[in-house]
Amino acid sequence: MLKKIFYVLVFALLAVAAIVLINTFRFNKSIPVKESLAIPNISDSAAMHLSRAIQIKTVSFGDTLAIDTTAFLKFRTFMETSYPVLHQKLQRQQFNEFSYVFTWKGKDTTLKPIVLMAHLDVVPVEAVAENKWSVPSFSGSIIKDTIWGRGATDDKASAISIMEAAEQLLKENYQPQQTIYLCFGHDEEIAGKRGAAKIAQWFQQNNIHPQLVVDEGGIVDTERFKELGRPVAVIGVGEKGYVNIDITVEIPGGHSSMPASETAIDVLNKAIAKIRAQQMPVSITPPVEELLNRVGGNGSFITRMALSNQWLFSSMLINKLEKEKGTNAMIHTTLVPTIVKAGIKDNVIPSVAKATFNSRILPG
Ligand SMILES: [Zn+2]
Repeated sequence: MLKKIFYVLVFALLAVAAIVLINTFRFNKSIPVKESLAIPNISDSAAMHLSRAIQIKTVSFGDTLAIDTTAFLKFRTFMETSYPVLHQKLQRQQFNEFSYVFTWKGKDTTLKPIVLMAHLDVVPVEAVAENKWSVPSFSGSIIKDTIWGRGATDDKASAISIMEAAEQLLKENYQPQQTIYLCFGHDEEIAGKRGAAKIAQWFQQNNIHPQLVVDEGGIVDTERFKELGRPVAVIGVGEKGYVNIDITVEIPGGHSSMPASETAIDVLNKAIAKIRAQQMPVSITPPVEELLNRVGGNGSFITRMALSNQWLFSSMLINKLEKEKGTNAMIHTTLVPTIVKAGIKDNVIPSVAKATFNSRILPG
């Protein structure tokens, strides 16, 4: 009898191993390798333009905080003087003063247009973090082959790239086949209500339905996919939702010489710790699944085995993804406190303590 059970177990084990191996070897969604194109020569002036763009502090502070209009005016002048042909040949429209749409008429106006977009604003730098920067945060320093500063990648590099390319092509009298709209928003970092939303409204009112919209999102990643041994251009095809949640605790305060057993700050602390101690449920959305399959197909044997046998290894896979904050965010709705406020004086126990949580919601 025991012998029989032993044989059944061995057989079952072998069957599972066979299925796992077959799935692993059949799993081959490798990234198609295309012949790489030579990077066109990028003029020194393009680098200088990006450096100068970074130096102009087009900061979005917050929904209710005013922007420094002088900086945004300066940025407009910078655009006009750096890209004269673009401004001479293309029609420019302004939306709430500092967002722009340039229309580059195509040869065939019956074709659906293309939209190339970028945003001109950046997030502020905390005063206390300034000395942690290896160069001053708005310096636009060019050191060896790298341009440093707030907005270098997000998103002034995109804006400058679009304008450099257009300026160069316009100098060569190039006219695109289909119309191209160059759209630049000035408040993306605070939800884009005054910029991108107004521009989208204008598209709608004028019945313009683009064939393709190319915006920021994703990078050429050399860090995250080490197994592949080559860079991966990650293209964003979806976006998480965004919501802020305020948590407020009100408990009568008093003098700090006679504290109650629990103050508003204590309760808020506990709430924050409790919320941070647990994650929202895990979910692998279709775009993430596709990314894993594409990237995993070129991965190691273990990676391919786990990806092609998720019926068996899903918890192992999720564990691995949860280890790193970037991949963890791809499979969870996140929730993190970003602003905590309480107290105005060192010897007064505040009666109100407030935390603002920022949440990024998984699609679906
Ligand atoms: Zn951005």
